[in-house]
Amino acid sequence: MSYHEREELDRLKDRVSLSDYLANVGIELKPAGHLLRAHCPLHEDATPSFYVWDDNSFYCYGCQTGGDVFTLTQKLYDLSFSDAVDRVREYAGGSNPLPAPVRTVLPTARKALRETDQSLLERVVNSYQSKLQGSDAALAYLHKRKISDSVVERFSLGYASGYLAQSMPAEIDHLLKLGLMRKQGSDTYYGRVTVPVYDVSGKVSQLYGRSLGDANKHRYLPFPHTTLFHPDALNESRIILCESILDALTLHSYSFDNTLSVYGARGLKGRFVEQIAEAGVRKVMLAYDADKAGDEGASKAAGLLRKRGILSYRLQLPEGMDVNSVAMESEDPGNELNRLVRDSRHNRI
Ligand SMILES: [Zn+2]
Repeated sequence: MSYHEREELDRLKDRVSLSDYLANVGIELKPAGHLLRAHCPLHEDATPSFYVWDDNSFYCYGCQTGGDVFTLTQKLYDLSFSDAVDRVREYAGGSNPLPAPVRTVLPTARKALRETDQSLLERVVNSYQSKLQGSDAALAYLHKRKISDSVVERFSLGYASGYLAQSMPAEIDHLLKLGLMRKQGSDTYYGRVTVPVYDVSGKVSQLYGRSLGDANKHRYLPFPHTTLFHPDALNESRIILCESILDALTLHSYSFDNTLSVYGARGLKGRFVEQIAEAGVRKVMLAYDADKAGDEGASKAAGLLRKRGILSYRLQLPEGMDVNSVAMESEDPGNELNRLVRDSRHNRI
C-alpha cells in the first residue's frame, strides 16, 4: 500500500465514528467509565467484553480481537480487507446502509496465543537466540545499528537461520498454525533478527522479525498486539515512547531503561493508553520519527494521553530521522540521545 493510499484510509477511518457505526448495525454501546462497552458481536458474550475507545478503536477481552473500523467490518461481514474498505467507504458516503452482520466465531489463528502456543514460541525464541552468535551478518547488522551486546542479551534477540522444521520435527503442524513456518517448509522469519515481545506475566506474546536489508523490513505473527514493547519499563513515572522496536532497543542500548515502543506511528491504541495510565505514568516523551507520519502520530498520541491526565513531550529529531538513524549517524550517540531526551522538556505537545 502506498503512503497516499494509507493516508486516504486514515482519513476515511477518522470520518467514521465507531460508535455510530455499531449503532447502525444494531449493537448497543453503554458507557463504562470513560469507555463504551457492548456485548461482542463476534461471539456469544454474556459479560460484555467488547470496548470502544475514544481513538475510534475497539478491543474485545473475550475473543482478544481488536482494531479499527476496517478490522471490525472484515470480521462482521467476513470480508477481505479491500472489500471491507469498500463497504466502509459506501457507508461513510451515505450510499449504502450497513446490512445485518454475519455473526461468526473467529478462526483460532486470529485469537491471542494460548498457553501451548506460548511454550512453543518460547522454544522457537530460544532456538533463534542460540543461533545469533553464529551469524556474522546478523551481528554486523546489530553492531551497525548501535544495538549493544547487553541489550541483545537482555531482550533475548535471536536470528532465524532456518531449519526450524529439522530441529522441531514433532511440532511442524503447530509451527505452521502459529505462522512460524510456511507450507513449503521454510521459516517465516528466515534471515531476520528476532525480538520476542513479552507480556506482563513474562510470557512471549509476539515475535518481531527485522530483515537485515531494506525490503519487507517488519514481520509479526498473525496475532493481535496485546502489549507494548516491553511492559517492564512501565514501572517509571516518566517513559519514552518510540514508534518501533528497533528505536526502543537503541535507547535501551544507551541506558534509557524507561523506553517502550508501539507498533508504528499510529500504533498507540486505546488499550495501550490504558496500560500506560494504569501503570501510573505521568509523563511521556514521544520519540517519534521526524516526518509527516511521525508528526501526526505524535499529536494523536498526545491527545489520547492528555485525556488520561498524562503530559506529553516530543523529542525534536533532525528532519526525516528516527531514533536509530540519529544513533547511527552520530559520533557520540549516547550524548546526542541524552541531549534530545533532556531538551524534550521544552517541547510539550
Ligand atoms: Zn469478542
